[in-house]
Amino acid sequence: MKQQEIPYKIYLEEEEMPKQWYNVRADMKNKPAPLLNPATLKPMSYEDLRPVFCDELIKQELDDDTPYIDIPQEIRDFYKMYRPSPLVRAYCLEKKLQTPAKIYYKFEGNNTSGSHKLNSAIAQAYYAKKQGLKGVTTETGAGQWGTALSMACAYLGLDCQVYMVKCSYEQKPFRREVMRTYGASVTPSPSETTEIGRKILAEHPGTSGSLGCAISEAVEAATHKEGYRYVLGSVLNQVLLHQTVIGLETKAALDKYGIVPDTIIGCAGGGSNLGGLISPFMGEKLRGERDYRFIAVEPASCPSFTRGKFAYDFCDTGMVCPLAKMYTLGSGFIPSPNHAGGLRYHGMSSILSQLYHDGLMEAVSVEQTSVFQAAETFARVEGILPAPESSHAIKVAIDEALKCKETGEEKTIVFGLTGTGYFDMYAYEKFHNGEMTDYIPTDEDLKPGFDGLPNVPEGKR
Ligand SMILES: *Cc1c(COP(=O)(O)O)cnc(C)c1O
Repeated sequence: MKQQEIPYKIYLEEEEMPKQWYNVRADMKNKPAPLLNPATLKPMSYEDLRPVFCDELIKQELDDDTPYIDIPQEIRDFYKMYRPSPLVRAYCLEKKLQTPAKIYYKFEGNNTSGSHKLNSAIAQAYYAKKQGLKGVTTETGAGQWGTALSMACAYLGLDCQVYMVKCSYEQKPFRREVMRTYGASVTPSPSETTEIGRKILAEHPGTSGSLGCAISEAVEAATHKEGYRYVLGSVLNQVLLHQTVIGLETKAALDKYGIVPDTIIGCAGGGSNLGGLISPFMGEKLRGERDYRFIAVEPASCPSFTRGKFAYDFCDTGMVCPLAKMYTLGSGFIPSPNHAGGLRYHGMSSILSQLYHDGLMEAVSVEQTSVFQAAETFARVEGILPAPESSHAIKVAIDEALKCKETGEEKTIVFGLTGTGYFDMYAYEKFHNGEMTDYIPTDEDLKPGFDGLPNVPEGKR
């Protein structure tokens, strides 16, 4: 097909939207390691997880074998309100860069929560509702997940209790008010409302909180309240599964025009958008049908893949959650406060960790001023104001396109544009004022996090 025949935006018809999620674990030879019970070091069973998670979601979490899982009609109906999301040919960016590369991005920011997180929020809220629960608890860092979940809960009539990392609670009052508009209650974390919160506050008075602390509080709140369960916006297998709607739509849109990507790029915090975007393509690679290059992009200030250890670790600071085997900086790792770009979780999806470990995916880390530079370049030509998280992928997509300019290769690059940055204007302001710095932790800085990794005996690792 001639280049000019490819439209700026490739949309799918409603009936072309995915009816099933794709479970990449089914095609992985080396399955991701199971979650372990921190007390017994035995794999967490369905029964072990029931006090914390919704029943149907536990089944999805533990299912390493079923390749396709039906998306319930109710969830598909909700998806139709804001999906399919467009796959955009970045003609203007290509022109600006004067690259022979063809660049596409899948834009997930076209909903009020402003990111891809709504794709999993609606699924998790749906299964909670179906189980007859009263409500769910969760944590939120930058606020996108809390916003997405509060929207989903409002739609289904579920109570939503959000523990928001204290520094974000204070720095992003508008995020908080969006959540309250959708009926969620928002508590700054650490708080006095949980045992673990009081303990953390006693040990670290004046702490501005972290995702790991907020997770501990949300889990405690769920397990101490009748009719509540805990839900999580990233990292878990189930979240990655729901996010495959991104990759499935992307693949369907590309297939419509006979486009085969060479390189697929995404930012990685806990790994859910990247995992969701690459899954269907990774499936082809795992089955030996086609080869692709996959690149995970992470901040140099929170480099889980590129400098982390592949080990069992706690998912939270309070050590109440199961152990997960992943690339991690240690649950005690807290990124520097001058890190503005999101993606600050210490660990990474077990699925992506295994794929990376097996050499099926690459990872690069980038410094935050270069990320904001890329964000600005992108905004000025493509119009969309990108989230700082998403801009990590933009940065590397631009780098790859510039390499093509040198070599003359007409590669096709696809990247995930996970969301918009309207609530990140303090970070943009810092960048514009030249006050943004590139903090990169030294090995010394990373050591305490690694020293705090749990000791899991050889046979159980
Ligand atoms: C949460 C978030 C991310 C990172 O989370 P993943 O689970 O790694 O996808 C990236 N971009 C945006 C806009 C987000 O809200």
